[in-house]
Amino acid sequence: MKDDILKVLLTEEELQAKVKELGAQITEDYQDKKLLLVSVLKGSVVFMADLMRAIDTYCRIDFMNVSSYGSGTKTTGTVKIIKDLDIDIAGYDLLIVEDILDSGKTLSYIKKILMERKPNSIKICTLLDKPERRQVPDIKADYKGFIVPDEFVVGYGLDYAETYRNLPYLGVLKPEVYSK
Ligand code: 5GP
Ligand code: MG
Ligand code: MG
Repeated sequence: MKDDILKVLLTEEELQAKVKELGAQITEDYQDKKLLLVSVLKGSVVFMADLMRAIDTYCRIDFMNVSSYGSGTKTTGTVKIIKDLDIDIAGYDLLIVEDILDSGKTLSYIKKILMERKPNSIKICTLLDKPERRQVPDIKADYKGFIVPDEFVVGYGLDYAETYRNLPYLGVLKPEVYSK
């Protein structure tokens, strides 16, 4: 599996340090709030698992799964709910936890449908941001780990064709992997 990686963009140590920083900021900001972390499956699970343990205030967690990409590397533009939240979010302060903000279509759709359920507030925490690829300009991350260049990245939860999620670092695949 390691042989498929062209270069490491973010090491395990760099990721852990950033997650600690984000967790500390969220802890401060949500002291007196009713925090609900909403992880968007599956890409954000590794980030979510680390981030929640870096948050030192009361919080609940829930998961949601939407699909927009299939197994390819480009958005299809259509977003569909595959698994909805279990918790009734009315009155909660939601923090949507995402792996990467790319075109912005997924997050703008999720934010829109969750707003309709009358939470107290909704903010977005994304580990990665690819601003060069944005198609929905008004969608912004309130908490952001790293800005990454316009390259398809894998690892730390992010997949290519459902593989590579278990890499502990973030990397770029060798081009030949896509033509396999
Ligand atoms: P958006 O709707 O913002 O275009 O897409 C966001 C979703 O696309 C992310 O949550 C992620 O699942 C997927 N995605 C976007 N860019 C990448 C990338 O570079 N690598 C991987 N593995 N997934 C990506
Ligand atoms: Mg995602
Ligand atoms: Mg994916």
